Amino acid sequence: MINRRASFGLLATASLALASNASAQNTQSCAVFTPASQASATPESALQRLKDGNARFVSGSTVNCDLRMQVKDTATQQSPVAVVVGCIDSRVPPELVFDQRLGDIFAARIAGNFVNTDILGSLEFATKAAGAKLIVVLGHTECGAIKGAVDNVKLGNLTAMLGNIRPSLEKLNYTGVATSKDKVLVQKLADQNAQDAVALVLRKSEVIAELVAQGKVKIVSAMHDISTGRVSWFA
Ligand SMILES: [Zn+2]
Repeated sequence: MINRRASFGLLATASLALASNASAQNTQSCAVFTPASQASATPESALQRLKDGNARFVSGSTVNCDLRMQVKDTATQQSPVAVVVGCIDSRVPPELVFDQRLGDIFAARIAGNFVNTDILGSLEFATKAAGAKLIVVLGHTECGAIKGAVDNVKLGNLTAMLGNIRPSLEKLNYTGVATSKDKVLVQKLADQNAQDAVALVLRKSEVIAELVAQGKVKIVSAMHDISTGRVSWFA
């Protein structure tokens, strides 16, 4: 069943009308973003789109679009509405978690969803150059990279990589030696790390800070609970 509605400037197609039992949550266009529909989206509508998509994901009412059609429709252009910085964890692919498809969102994935120069450049491309309206830093529960940072794991290039997360740990109050057996501390660090990434983007990227100040782009952090699939948004 393909559900369509008029959204983001896209016209609903009468012959593919809403299913009779469609709720607001599971109505989602299968039409790919175009420069026009991207331009008519706002940071708020992009955020709502991801919130609605996650609600569908959680409730098991994800949209089944014809991906081959979307391949065809995105063959010559892309105009994604958002960009997500997420972890490489196999359980948190942004497109699935937010029930999005081809051409909808950029995804930058790195263990521990921190932000470095390369990720900043990717975000600047996604927003300033390619027109995305929303940046989401998406952390998740039970993150192996976060646990590794708590345990101060030393292993090959992982040592330096985890060094990107350790500054957030140093902000947290804990007694004794930090250990990933402390589930509360692990989650506190996941929360802190995601929120610190947003602050770092605004501090280190003049390009994005300007877009945000102009109201053209919004940047938020969120936490994905891998036990429920639900994404909670930080204020
Ligand atoms: Zn992770």
